[in-house]
Amino acid sequence: MSSLSGPVDPADLRSVLDGRWAGVRDAHREHLDERFLPVYGETGDQARERISRLLGELPVELGIGAGFPTEYGGGADVGGSIVAIEMLAQVDLSLMVKAGVQWGLFGGAVAALGTRRHHDAYLRDIIAGRLFGCFAMTETGHGSDVQHLRTTCVYDPRTETFDLHTPHEAARKDYIGNAARDGRMAVVFAQLVTGGRRHGVHAWLVPIRDERGNPLPGVTIGDAGPKAGLLGVDNGRLSFDHVRVPRDMLLDRYAQVAADGTYSSPIENDSRRFFTMLGTLVRGRVSVGGAASAATKSALTIAVRYGDIRRQFGTPDADREVLLNDYLAHQRKLLPALATTYALTFAQSELVTALAEIQGDDGTADEHRQRQLESRAAGLKAAQTWHATRTIQMCREACGGAGYLAENRLPGLKADTDVFTTFEGDNTVLLQLVAKGLLTGYRDDFGSLDGWGRASFVAEQVREMVLERTAARSLIERLVSAVPGRDDEVAVTDRGWHLKVFEDRERHLLDGAVRRLRNGAATKKDRPFDIFNDVQDHVLAVAAAHIDRVTLEAFVAGIETATDPAVRALLSRVCDLYALSVIETHKGWLLEHGRLTPARAKAITGVVNGLLKELRPHMRTLVDGFAIPDSWLHCAVLREEPGRQETMADHDTADRP
Ligand SMILES: Cc1cc2nc3c(=O)[nH]c(=O)nc-3n(C[C@H](O)[C@H](O)[C@H](O)COP(=O)(O)OP(=O)(O)OC[C@H]3O[C@@H](n4cnc5c(N)ncnc54)[C@H](O)[C@@H]3O)c2cc1C
Repeated sequence: MSSLSGPVDPADLRSVLDGRWAGVRDAHREHLDERFLPVYGETGDQARERISRLLGELPVELGIGAGFPTEYGGGADVGGSIVAIEMLAQVDLSLMVKAGVQWGLFGGAVAALGTRRHHDAYLRDIIAGRLFGCFAMTETGHGSDVQHLRTTCVYDPRTETFDLHTPHEAARKDYIGNAARDGRMAVVFAQLVTGGRRHGVHAWLVPIRDERGNPLPGVTIGDAGPKAGLLGVDNGRLSFDHVRVPRDMLLDRYAQVAADGTYSSPIENDSRRFFTMLGTLVRGRVSVGGAASAATKSALTIAVRYGDIRRQFGTPDADREVLLNDYLAHQRKLLPALATTYALTFAQSELVTALAEIQGDDGTADEHRQRQLESRAAGLKAAQTWHATRTIQMCREACGGAGYLAENRLPGLKADTDVFTTFEGDNTVLLQLVAKGLLTGYRDDFGSLDGWGRASFVAEQVREMVLERTAARSLIERLVSAVPGRDDEVAVTDRGWHLKVFEDRERHLLDGAVRRLRNGAATKKDRPFDIFNDVQDHVLAVAAAHIDRVTLEAFVAGIETATDPAVRALLSRVCDLYALSVIETHKGWLLEHGRLTPARAKAITGVVNGLLKELRPHMRTLVDGFAIPDSWLHCAVLREEPGRQETMADHDTADRP
């Protein structure tokens, strides 16, 4: 294990973290000035007005339409468009969500689900921000189970139009971004019916307001009302009273309805078709995960910098009070969270790279890779958004009362990221999808939890586990195979041992879930719901363990991209802390399953404390590596506190006998 010697230049860390889309990140750092930062204490109306205006003022240098085809003014750079959203999240989360709705959800759905006539007619205006729109999928009655939406769209061959209708209150479109104020059109998801037959959920491009902003006939628009955060986003409700939608407004890449009402689709199965459609929209989920990590980095930067200036309590042997960051308890809060943020950054980079390859111009990915991408996007979205919620709260507490003041940014970060665990897929539901992918080898439609507990499904689909490596396959295999059979012969900081523990935990949990599902399928044939429901907690643990492994492997691969030895040594130590923190968290399970001896479990706590001591001098460097411009932190206490703290500390010292 190489030791941490001298200081590391944050710029060197930054270049490793910035990775392939460093240019996009730099353009944002350079061109997004104070105008784009949140305004504390605004009313909802003021926030909405400001965010709508700013959306139109985003500098062209940011390449906002990066994810769209070049022929419509886009940049054909899928990865760049995800990174752009992530950067906006460090400036203002309402701005990020509003941009995500406009260009990611709405524009993305038109691009991915529509065909040339839709692209020719609308994409330029969408990219340029001349046509604002919504992504109207969720209904009051159905949010997670969107396969069972109740809105209907029935084709009438006599008029060659669809009849879009909200049959009852629970079928109302709810929470829809851009609906309450700005949206002129909406991509509306509904059950397609033609010739008296249902064909499952499809999407239509539907005008909802006229040029003056008034709802069109048959469209009722409501406001979702005050929210916990994201004040600048106009979430609303949409209902349709037999609205006539021309036939050519069906977004028909995956299914067509001929003038006489004949339905055709290259994908026969309704459920498979719907989840294939949703799979093309995976970018939204990837963006939300990345944005959550970006906000986490802002919070950690504030808390670490505050902890380096804030002093509390003196010690008998020193004439200054102690800096918060010098307390072990404070390091225990901040450093493992920082290490996890680094780990997730590498995992996110790997995911965005895979997405760019798979959804790049040729779009020739095989189905297995596409399903695997969707699974990883779901899992990392859950991991990053939960980590954001926990870490931002912890940073708020780490800044004491100052952390509670709006002017210090943390309350806004907390309120605005809270819902990230719910939208773009509820995290618990997403983890079940990850587990389903693992248990079935990604053979079944990704996204459907329907019928998942059926005995026949389990018998046919659930298979023995084959562990698929993610990143740096050969390096990881080498490290794992070098681990001796007996644990006490290997240091707890050995990377191969970390990888092996993560891998063993995932494999063990997965094998156990397979066994329990099979037993359930044999004994609970008459209670299909119970087959799955009785192991739901186990299945969720499988998914979490899988995402932990994917994240660790990405970190190990990420370190390999650093060329500077000092940077590699620092990252390696941060990776130790990440791995050992996860092992510490699951110590109970590992002990129960004989994967850790009590002596080794105790030793880990000591080693983690040692790592904290070693990393203490590098805390500031680690957050500076995120390269968030000072002005973007938008935190009063970081601007004022150094002087105040010095004076108070000096004053206290002078008063002491
Ligand atoms: C601010 C905001 C903006 C949004 N923007 C949009 C938008 O622009 N367009 C759009 O279409 N939608 C949007 N949504 C909707 C969002 O995607 C949904 O709220 C989300 O998918 C969750 O659905 P739900 O609210 O119906 O929760 P539910 O599905 O009712 O979930 C409630 C709880 O039940 C649990 N649960 C559900 N199913 C299961 C299960 N099978 N097993 C175990 N537990 C389960 C969940 O884990 C969760 O804890 C937005 C929501 C919000 C709050």
